[in-house]
Amino acid sequence: MVDLTQKFDVLVAGGGNAALCAAISARRAGAKVLVLEAAPKFYRGGNTRHTRNMRCAHDAATDTLTGPYSEDEFFDDLLRVTEGNTDEALARHMIHESKEMLTWIAEQGVRFQPSLGGTLSLGRTNSFFLGGGRAMLNTLYHTAERLGIDILYDAEVVGLDIENGMFMSASVQLGTERRSVRAAALVAACGGFEANIEWLKQYWGAPAENFLIRGTRFNRGSVLKMLIDEGVEQIGDPTQCHAVAIDARAPKYDGGIITRLDCVVFGIVVNKHARRFYDEGEDVWPKRYAIWGRLVAGQPDQIAYIIFDASSLELFMPSCFPPISAPTLAELAQKLSLEPAALADTIRDFNGAVRPGTFDHTNLDDCRTEGLTPPKSHWARRIEKAPFYAYPVRPGITFTYLGTRVNKQARMLMRGGTPSANMFAAGEIMSGNVLGRGYAAGIGMTIGSVFGRIAGREAAINARN
Ligand SMILES: Cc1cc2nc3c(=O)[nH]c(=O)nc-3n(C[C@H](O)[C@H](O)[C@H](O)COP(=O)(O)OP(=O)(O)OC[C@H]3O[C@@H](n4cnc5c(N)ncnc54)[C@H](O)[C@@H]3O)c2cc1C
Repeated sequence: MVDLTQKFDVLVAGGGNAALCAAISARRAGAKVLVLEAAPKFYRGGNTRHTRNMRCAHDAATDTLTGPYSEDEFFDDLLRVTEGNTDEALARHMIHESKEMLTWIAEQGVRFQPSLGGTLSLGRTNSFFLGGGRAMLNTLYHTAERLGIDILYDAEVVGLDIENGMFMSASVQLGTERRSVRAAALVAACGGFEANIEWLKQYWGAPAENFLIRGTRFNRGSVLKMLIDEGVEQIGDPTQCHAVAIDARAPKYDGGIITRLDCVVFGIVVNKHARRFYDEGEDVWPKRYAIWGRLVAGQPDQIAYIIFDASSLELFMPSCFPPISAPTLAELAQKLSLEPAALADTIRDFNGAVRPGTFDHTNLDDCRTEGLTPPKSHWARRIEKAPFYAYPVRPGITFTYLGTRVNKQARMLMRGGTPSANMFAAGEIMSGNVLGRGYAAGIGMTIGSVFGRIAGREAAINARN
């Protein structure tokens, strides 16, 4: 039993990577720490459960990384994907600190493995968790328990008592009981608001009803909202998020990585009117996969279909659902409830525009269309070899970028720029400081680990003084 009448040094709201890194770091700095996780124990760990890897700068190859990845290269990658929408000083600080993360995380018991084939060519830059995100989390929880950190599950933070930027206490819902918990410092590490469809609808309108949420249903942004309402400065465009095309048959929440579809480049993508709407071969897949969530979100009823033929079936990692198949395109159209004549027209036009080339799905090849709008710039091959296949896709929201503004200590900044007396943030809830838009694979875990570690350490120091 955790004694909730005592005053804790550090209260951590959340139970994913950022929260656990913060809790462990605070505890190792001598603080008495309480973790409040909204989810039941089985579902603990939010979106972190679904992760596979983390991007950190490093000077040399390791047992599991194939070569060096300098701080400058990491920053250049970040600059490219965000198109400059990042807080440069903070981003550079994070990247510098990331160099210590692989060792620090390993000191907490987490193990790494070489990257698997077919995982977006990340073997040099990204470290893969042995056993995936869930194994990583279980290890962090085990370490946290061993260090004497108090952890409560089914413990949603439903209220914050904040006076002039100073955290006093939190209200926590424990079953039917609501309790107040006091602490000298707060670390908010409870994710974005991607699972809050009503909030998404404020920016996206009715289409948000058709979004699928790839991760936990518990990231509803309630703490984020409370903090903003209490005068914490918000950062990030609320419409910006990481969104990919996922199998439309995925569950509403928590479909995870196995519902993602990587076969766009091998076929064509049509909307419910059987019309193409974007260049499927614009660039190599790792650079383009994260635009397809938004593209599908812009289509009628937020549904689209990736269509390909037998020659591409074995070239990509499938989703956990089998593709829909048919011996003819007309039958495939019927199975997808598409107008067969419209699909036939689209495929006839596409096949007619394909120019001869040498197909090479590992490079930007010369297989392209001519005189077609939109074009397919690479990997364009005629769709003609039966059987024919399709995957229905919907926007899969990974996480949102709206967050709380922080400084290099992970300390929240109040509107006007004054640092909060005792409130810190880490992970998705402050990702907008680094990610104004776009995404580079593995950076979500970097943001959580680096700022989680800093937030925990700083919160512990704050509590002592
Ligand atoms: C399918 C999928 C695959 C991904 N793969 C990768 C990857 O390989 N690499 C990578 O870097 N990133 C990946 N990401 C993104 C990554 O998951 C996140 O960036 C990262 O896990 C965020 O960590 P976090 O601790 O901030 O949030 P989370 O891990 O989501 O944790 C938030 C926690 O807060 C809790 N919570 C929410 N509200 C409250 C409340 N009011 N009170 C108490 N607790 C609350 C939740 O229950 C949860 O435990 C992936 C995401 C998804 C969905």
